[in-house]
Amino acid sequence: MIAQDLHNWGFNLWMMIGCFGWIIILAPPVIVGLLYLRILLRRGRIRRAVAEHYRRTHLSNGAPYPPSGRGVCQRCKLAKDKVYSLKSGTRLCHECFGLLLASELARRKDEEDVSK
Ligand SMILES: [Zn+2]
Repeated sequence: MIAQDLHNWGFNLWMMIGCFGWIIILAPPVIVGLLYLRILLRRGRIRRAVAEHYRRTHLSNGAPYPPSGRGVCQRCKLAKDKVYSLKSGTRLCHECFGLLLASELARRKDEEDVSK
């Protein structure tokens, strides 16, 4: 009986040492892999946030939006939280600025069509 207990105790001791060894061997690659996965996910999140910020602060042609602030739009005469101050001194809200851009794009396209 005592010999059997000693045998079991020794077997259990070797099993514990073996499991501990495997944990020591496998833990660093698993931790490094998880950290690398976290870095990849964070990098993608940062890239998407930068692209979203760029999309919000730049026009479709890559030029930045003009400086903005609260004020009254000179075209629709409404008080808005975001009114762009153009270089010409005109102050336009986001919607009117979009209409101005669309009309300028249409005018440029017409000029290109006429010149061809
Ligand atoms: Zn307006």
